[in-house]
Amino acid sequence: MASGYKFECDRCGYIVETMGPSEFYRDGQRNRKPYGHPLPFPGEALDYGVKGLSADLYCPFCKKIFDMVMVEFDIPYHCDKGEIFWDDVEDPDRHRNEGSVICPGCKHVGMILGPLHKDECKPGAEGEMLAGDCPKCGEGILVSRLSWMS
Ligand SMILES: [Zn+2]
Ligand SMILES: [Zn+2]
Repeated sequence: MASGYKFECDRCGYIVETMGPSEFYRDGQRNRKPYGHPLPFPGEALDYGVKGLSADLYCPFCKKIFDMVMVEFDIPYHCDKGEIFWDDVEDPDRHRNEGSVICPGCKHVGMILGPLHKDECKPGAEGEMLAGDCPKCGEGILVSRLSWMS
């Protein structure tokens, strides 16, 4: 269920990439590992089950990308297809939602995964974009260049 997004500064060409949400599992040492999509990776992933969803999120305040846990289930989720759906994620009986994802760098709330609509962004800018100015030059705007889905 993951999507990837690429944003390019309209001034200097700097590129920011976000991605997610991706299923993960935790091994016996509680290490977070990619679960695989749409099928679990061969090996232990299927045994442990989906423990939650992670993503590479962009913080518009400190302008950095962080690999973060978005949702983590109390009990790992097992299903035949190795894929979980938002209906399950949003079922309060199934998971512990930490609420809004907080930036580990600057502690602001409001990490961003995908492009925002025009009216949520700077006035006058064209196309879909990521909130805020370019992290490199500070003058351009990050505009969506391409995205993918798996
Ligand atoms: Zn931040
Ligand atoms: Zn720039």
